[in-house]
Amino acid sequence: MPHIQQLSPHIADLIAAGEVVERPASVVKELLENAIDAGATAVTVEIKDGGMTYLRVSDDGCGIAPDELPIAFLRHATSKLRTAEDLAAIGTLGFRGEALAAIASVSRLDIFSRTQGAPAGAMLHLEGGVPGTVREAGCPEGTSVIVRDLFFNTPARLKFMKRDSAEASAISGLVAHLALSHPSISFKLIKDGTEALHTPGDGALKSAIYAALGREFALSLVEVRASDGSLAANGFVTKPLNGRGTRGMQTFFVNGRLVKSQLLTAALEEAYSNRIMKGKYPGCVLSVTLPCDMVDVNVHPAKTIVKFLNEKLIFDLVYHGVTDALDRDGAPEPVKPGVPQARQVQNPRGDFYQSMTAEQFRAQGAPKSKGSAPVFQTRIPAVNSELSGRLTAADVMRRAQSAPSKPSAPAVTAYEAPAKPVNIPAPTPVPAPVSAPEPEQVSLMQEDVVPWRIAGEVLDTYIVCEDAEKNVWLIDKHAAHERVNFDRFKARTEPIMSQTLLTPLAADFPSSEFAALSAQLPLLQEFGFDCEEFGPNSLLLRAIPADIGEGEAVSALEEIAGDLITHAANPADARDALLATLACKAAVKGGMKSDARELRVLVDKVQSGEIEYCPHGRPVKAKLSKYELEKMFKRAT
Ligand code: ADP
Ligand code: MG
Repeated sequence: MPHIQQLSPHIADLIAAGEVVERPASVVKELLENAIDAGATAVTVEIKDGGMTYLRVSDDGCGIAPDELPIAFLRHATSKLRTAEDLAAIGTLGFRGEALAAIASVSRLDIFSRTQGAPAGAMLHLEGGVPGTVREAGCPEGTSVIVRDLFFNTPARLKFMKRDSAEASAISGLVAHLALSHPSISFKLIKDGTEALHTPGDGALKSAIYAALGREFALSLVEVRASDGSLAANGFVTKPLNGRGTRGMQTFFVNGRLVKSQLLTAALEEAYSNRIMKGKYPGCVLSVTLPCDMVDVNVHPAKTIVKFLNEKLIFDLVYHGVTDALDRDGAPEPVKPGVPQARQVQNPRGDFYQSMTAEQFRAQGAPKSKGSAPVFQTRIPAVNSELSGRLTAADVMRRAQSAPSKPSAPAVTAYEAPAKPVNIPAPTPVPAPVSAPEPEQVSLMQEDVVPWRIAGEVLDTYIVCEDAEKNVWLIDKHAAHERVNFDRFKARTEPIMSQTLLTPLAADFPSSEFAALSAQLPLLQEFGFDCEEFGPNSLLLRAIPADIGEGEAVSALEEIAGDLITHAANPADARDALLATLACKAAVKGGMKSDARELRVLVDKVQSGEIEYCPHGRPVKAKLSKYELEKMFKRAT
């Protein structure tokens, strides 16, 4: 029988070290968190060989008194936590009180520290956790920890280290994230003698983003500011046209801590649905703050996973915050003060050519859909209820999961679906159809000035306009019309109108398409197609949507079959895809002549900022400023 023995403190330290200190990046993380907790305004991280041979973190924080230096390296030594109750309300970053002990036990460590205002500092050397004696040292106010030869005494751990370059890039990512969550602290990273990152610490998130994530990313952003009582979501998101191929540029913080959260990802991406191209993902740096008792950040040892008490509240906050930011971004800029315009009196917002803002336009001109479920209440009760347009949180999560994430990024962790489904808020109801404007909308349009001047149409595809600020606009009429149709279809409360064909039309389909279509006949009916099975792989069409031509009907059904197959796993996506397909088929085609009235309605919608992207995420308009034109002709430089 083996004897039971208590582990020696050294062995206990090594075990703890295994949990706290996994790799150089985890050392940097602990040391940076200590620096932040110490009230630093500037920190420098210097690494050599990915941090394996040399790693230094220096700060200008409160410092540690000489007699406390050895105490800081005792296990469970902390100045931050005294009672079990403190655990619940913990505001500081680290609280286990074992980071320094753990790091010291697997390295050769030097610490230099001088408290604020003290005449001199002190230093201490530890070798594999064994401390030497504290000695006086000349050093600046603050603390500097130097870690050499990490894992020199734990060869097993050393074997598992990745290449130095992988460790270095993990450290870069970490420093960038901490810099983003602390814009008031200046972070500097020096890799093998070269400065890799330096944030100004001026308190502005945008400048931290610029320094940490690059100029191009920083220039593609719109600001998000949302609050609801004690909750807030602030930060920046990319414009829809700056979507990226992966989720690698999505950064979320909850109460200052970097987290992975499917809920936050889903809320963000839901705000982009129908604005961003398929396969593209928005980027963001979004920070959610909420009272400590509404969130549990302690459910995972690495504390990157959070659990929100009220998930719907958080989802709505982020979703609406991002939606508003994107809407605001698309709205025309107000005319700068000093532009003399008599009409300004009539329009307090100042843009004289515009009859009203996009918001007013929506508020006054839009037929509000009733209830919270977006549209598409159907007269056919048999329709698959999942296709009724209500997304549950689980749907959203599934959607979020189905998309690829950056291979190197840590896997998205399991998300516990809420007990009750979260209803995604209905999209903003959209104004009436092109062909039949609502009466009040017409009167509003007539009352004021003609908005943009339509100069003409080129290539039978692009409408050329001019605005009051001397900008030239090109509008893709097909993309714009597609969007108008899509919004109109999506906002309607009855099934799409259909036209009965004089002679029913028989159409053959490949068997997979036929199977997809024949399984969804009630749904097709809802979308205006009245059809029935007509022999093997053949459908008989009796009625088709009123908005599409007879010649388009079969190709529309083929595309719809494709949509149904592609999105078989996700009914909500399938529904949107179907709407997009119909919207496209019902839209004026590039290359076809359109009449002036048709163009006018499209231009008005684009001008009001109401539509920006076609349902596939392509832009509907492009701007050429007077300056850009002058540059083109070398009139300006
Ligand atoms: P914890 O951070 O959980 O308290 P650590 O082992 O990381 O545990 O640190 C132990 C203690 O040493 C801290 O509570 C703090 O008082 C002190 N300390 C560590 N790093 C610093 C620093 N950079 N500046 C000032 N004090 C520090
Ligand atoms: Mg700590």
